[in-house]
Amino acid sequence: MKRTLTILAAGASLFPGFAASAQTAPEVSLARFDCGTSQVPTVVNQRFSDTYAYGDLKIQFVFSCYLIKHGDEYLLWDTGLPPTAVAPNVAPKVSLVDYLAKIDVKPEQIKYVGISHYHGDHTGQVASFPKSTLLIGAREWDAISSPKPPEGVNVKPFESWIKGENKVEPQATDKDVFGDGSVIMLRTPGHTPGHSSLLVKLAQMGPVILSGDMAHFRENYDTDGVPTFNFDRAQTVASIERIKGIVKNQTATLIIQHDARDVEKLPVFPAFAK
Ligand SMILES: [Zn+2]
Repeated sequence: MKRTLTILAAGASLFPGFAASAQTAPEVSLARFDCGTSQVPTVVNQRFSDTYAYGDLKIQFVFSCYLIKHGDEYLLWDTGLPPTAVAPNVAPKVSLVDYLAKIDVKPEQIKYVGISHYHGDHTGQVASFPKSTLLIGAREWDAISSPKPPEGVNVKPFESWIKGENKVEPQATDKDVFGDGSVIMLRTPGHTPGHSSLLVKLAQMGPVILSGDMAHFRENYDTDGVPTFNFDRAQTVASIERIKGIVKNQTATLIIQHDARDVEKLPVFPAFAK
């Protein structure tokens, strides 16, 4: 009896996998956009380490946005600074809408806009995609749609979603975006209450994780560093540990979105990583 059950269980778990691999899985590819920079390198010891771990280390921060193509469908991940951004930042020279026009993609073709968290440097151009379904952590959406949003929440570009004119799908847990395991929003709270990162499984490059602000730069990630302005220290450390586990177990490439050294691991748009 025990043996029969074992065989049945093995058959039940194997068969769906076999069926899926027998079909043609949609190709997944990933492009990155320049969505702004900081004017000058930032001394990170004060604000980006609550243990003052970095001496006089300076980091040239960048702002980056991403486009995931899944078959014929598109997911935009984070929307960077707006073209109107001012000092201490340098606004993106090309808007996301203009970038997409270079590959003949119109804003209404973007099925999903995924937002790692509610800060202005990740949400600056979201209002350009009013037809897109918004994917965002539930606690981020709670803050954005609150009658009294906490400080630091960039509410204005979300107005049409707040009014209910556009579709939003707040996520309390991980989200398998296209339902085939190829693109997964990962719950990585700490920087903000409902922060997310994104796992994109590419056939040639292998799994890629887009960090959001789970960590801000490579040294920050390597040492479990916590910026003083993060929402929750314990959650930040736990989220870094989670991502380190996935990087190890899946042999994934981590792209820390504010770190130019990491962003450069991906080809320059309009090239896509596959
Ligand atoms: Zn940021």
